[in-house]
Amino acid sequence: MRVTVIGAGYVGLVTAACTAEWGHDVVCIDIDHARVEALRIGQTPIFEPGLDELVVHGLDSGRLHFASDYDAVAGSDVVFIAVGTPSEKDGQVDLSAVRAVAASLAPNLDEHTVVVVKSTVPVGTTQEIGEWLQAARPDLSIHVASNPEFLRQGAAVHDFMAPDRVVIGASDPTAEARLVDLYQSLQEAGTPVIATQIESAELAKYASNAFLAIKLSFVNEIADLSEASGANVADVTRIMGLDGRIGSSYLAAGPGFGGSCLPKDVQGLLHTSERFGAGSTIAAAALGVNDSRKHRMADKVEEAVGGPLASTTIAILGLTFKAGTDDLRHSPAIELTDSLVARGAAVRAHDPKGMPAAKSVLPPEVELCPDPMTALTGADAMVIATEWPEYAALDLTEVAALLARPVVVDLRNLLDPVAVTGAGLSYASIGRAPAT
Ligand code: NAD
Repeated sequence: MRVTVIGAGYVGLVTAACTAEWGHDVVCIDIDHARVEALRIGQTPIFEPGLDELVVHGLDSGRLHFASDYDAVAGSDVVFIAVGTPSEKDGQVDLSAVRAVAASLAPNLDEHTVVVVKSTVPVGTTQEIGEWLQAARPDLSIHVASNPEFLRQGAAVHDFMAPDRVVIGASDPTAEARLVDLYQSLQEAGTPVIATQIESAELAKYASNAFLAIKLSFVNEIADLSEASGANVADVTRIMGLDGRIGSSYLAAGPGFGGSCLPKDVQGLLHTSERFGAGSTIAAAALGVNDSRKHRMADKVEEAVGGPLASTTIAILGLTFKAGTDDLRHSPAIELTDSLVARGAAVRAHDPKGMPAAKSVLPPEVELCPDPMTALTGADAMVIATEWPEYAALDLTEVAALLARPVVVDLRNLLDPVAVTGAGLSYASIGRAPAT
């Protein structure tokens, strides 16, 4: 098939590289010219395991192309819209990029093309885009479908190539058949391919992300209760997770959920529920718990160093919203760093993948360090904010020797309390009693 993907971000670039790998002829269009130029010479602008290799392979095979001009859409069998849908200030979903794409697509469509909304959009958006395109191109029969994406950053290529399910929302047999064809190899490999109404596909994406957010906020409250009552949240969640009805994923207590999807998608669900006059009390509570957690994490650091943070130096290890990605969007680590700086601490920070983008999102007084050891030298506390495996492998005796005060705050429960205290360090973590 001739596939066009609009947007060369985490979702669009992975979609383009993977569908080219499946043997389709793919062009990926982005309005960011620098991004397109870099991709044309095989430089991937985001970090995703396995993506560099797929992009280079796609370019070498002649099946993957990059463009900034919408002329490249002509003759496409499928056009995926995979641009961002961030939150507006009031939490509503900002659909301006999706609508801008529709406007650019309209003159370049032909009778045969199926337009597929892969961006996460509120119920009704795909139909709205279809109606808009139809009005703009009365000479054509416009075909639209919803195909929400469920990949996880840090495992995006794996998730696209081996998803738990593929969702095709379509009211038009041409659109549905085209997507069934495109995903045929996955279906043959046993992946459930669910064809449904457009509205169900759109809502399933929000419901899934909101459910994950609810799970995380619930576990974080259980962590607080564990800490207060003398229980150990690691044991509590292990016991919960072994129950097949609950499942063990998304039960890791931590500093709160972040990233470009969960916070905005919960907000999006709340707005959609309000629009339709339906209740969303549970999702709203999950967001509230998460918001209040930001301050709790700074309080935790303050308690661990034993007083106000003014004139302390804090080493933050990890800036990305989770390990395995370079994405800093809505990262709890960034919010924590902001709070620590506001409370008067001097902050030194390190991240294995997030450093290039960190400069533009952190307060200018934060010192970005080339390695963890530089960040730790002379600091009053080491705070693990992201669960990068390299931080689990730190030599704790060396850590103790470098720190000015022997204080470790582990917001990801990454370290073994016995090993930390064995190295002469005090240890505060999440949902477990502090250890010295
Ligand atoms: P992103 O910000 O990484 O990438 C968006 C890209 O679109 C950017 O490169 C931008 O330059 C480009 N763009 C913006 N306007 C454009 C236009 N008019 N024409 C062409 N290109 C344009 O976004 P993302 O994280 O890939 O997310 C895309 C969508 O997928 C969102 O709706 C998101 O909610 C959803 N989603 C994201 C993830 C994820 O893990 N990131 C997972 C599932 C679904």
